[in-house]
Amino acid sequence: MPKVKVVFDRTNCIGAQSCSIVCPKFWKIAEDGKADLLGSKENPQTGKYELEKEVSNEDAVCLRESAGACPVRVITFSEE
Ligand code: SF4
Repeated sequence: MPKVKVVFDRTNCIGAQSCSIVCPKFWKIAEDGKADLLGSKENPQTGKYELEKEVSNEDAVCLRESAGACPVRVITFSEE
């Protein structure tokens, strides 16, 4: 199982929703119109949301694609 790290700069999310269309298991549009990265925690030092865990290959692909789909590149994906 790949270990992935996703960092989400929610402040600069424009609510384009591409992430939630590509990968609805991990992204949900909140009431304020921006996305939430499900299962992530806010890093108090950076103000960004982080999700770091082992996921299935399928979920890793889904998260990688969501990062690529974001038009303002506020999702950073890395994989070990
Ligand atoms: S695709 Fe990017 S800008 Fe659009 S909702 Fe998702 S994180 Fe926000």
